[in-house]
Amino acid sequence: MDPHSIELPRNILIGKGILDKVSNVCEELKISGKPLVLTGEHTKGVAGERVRKSLLDVDPDTQMEIVKEASKKEVERLDERIPMDIDLIVSVGGGKVIDVGKLLAYQAKIPFISVPTAPSHDGVASERVSLKDGEVFHSLKARVPIAIIADIEILRNAPYKLIASGGADVISNCTAVNDWKLAKEKGEYYSEYAAALSLLSSEIVLNSAEMIRKKEERGIRNLVEALISSSISMSLVQSSRPASGSEHMFSHALDQLKFQAGVNKSLHGEQCGVGSILFAYIQGQDWEKIRNGLKTLGAPTTAGELDIDKDMLVESMLKAKDVRERYTVLNEKPLDKEKALDICRATGVIE
Ligand SMILES: [Zn+2]
Repeated sequence: MDPHSIELPRNILIGKGILDKVSNVCEELKISGKPLVLTGEHTKGVAGERVRKSLLDVDPDTQMEIVKEASKKEVERLDERIPMDIDLIVSVGGGKVIDVGKLLAYQAKIPFISVPTAPSHDGVASERVSLKDGEVFHSLKARVPIAIIADIEILRNAPYKLIASGGADVISNCTAVNDWKLAKEKGEYYSEYAAALSLLSSEIVLNSAEMIRKKEERGIRNLVEALISSSISMSLVQSSRPASGSEHMFSHALDQLKFQAGVNKSLHGEQCGVGSILFAYIQGQDWEKIRNGLKTLGAPTTAGELDIDKDMLVESMLKAKDVRERYTVLNEKPLDKEKALDICRATGVIE
């Protein structure tokens, strides 16, 4: 591979009651000027306002904007609304708010601070964002956060469905890395270090599943650290490769079908977890270990738990290979409807 530069966060703060430390982090990193806080409708009261107050030390006129959805359209809307003289974007919220902030900061060439309020997916420290306009899915380059402030108390109090989804997203790294190994045989760049870090994150969540389920502080901390490490594994290679393989392509295909059908109950990580059971089976991996881990975590392991029917599930498996140009087990073991159904039954994903 040609020389490549690796962009990583400079400051990762994990602890309890640390939302008020945002201004201290700015001071340490010598960030001054005019910050803008982005937050969500629900996270505004829990965390957004606290972060804005902390930033009044940096600029007494710090403003806050609400992010409504993670789409290119929303990025354009906010881009028009926010003043030209902003020097820093601080996203306080879930995946949507973080992704939109990351892209806005990248476009404006200013630093970005990430304050996640739900451990629901592993995009927190990566340089990629996933946006969706209707059924059109975009994976775009964006700004790696200069700092991440992960308040365990806030993250622990997020709805459990979001926590389990984050755990499932990291567990699914094991199938992503296996796909990457197959691609390596075809000459694709492969980083032993990034792959090992991604797999380690997956193992830690599998081993902490019970503690996470009980919302024990150590479990939540392990999950948050695993999400950040998984994210960093992607930053190391400037690609989502270490944490996104056939199981993620399945999830994106399912997103498209759900949009067409007007249903939208299951979350990204939940879908990737179920995808990981299915594609681990195809890869000849220990799919039962993945399924058991997801069950312990309380994440979905069946089509019913994802609230989709078997036809939509099978169609997503078949469509997965067309989602993006990425070499996976699907290039080596193509699926047809019959095979996909057999795999769903063998793994108990459909009864
Ligand atoms: Zn993911």
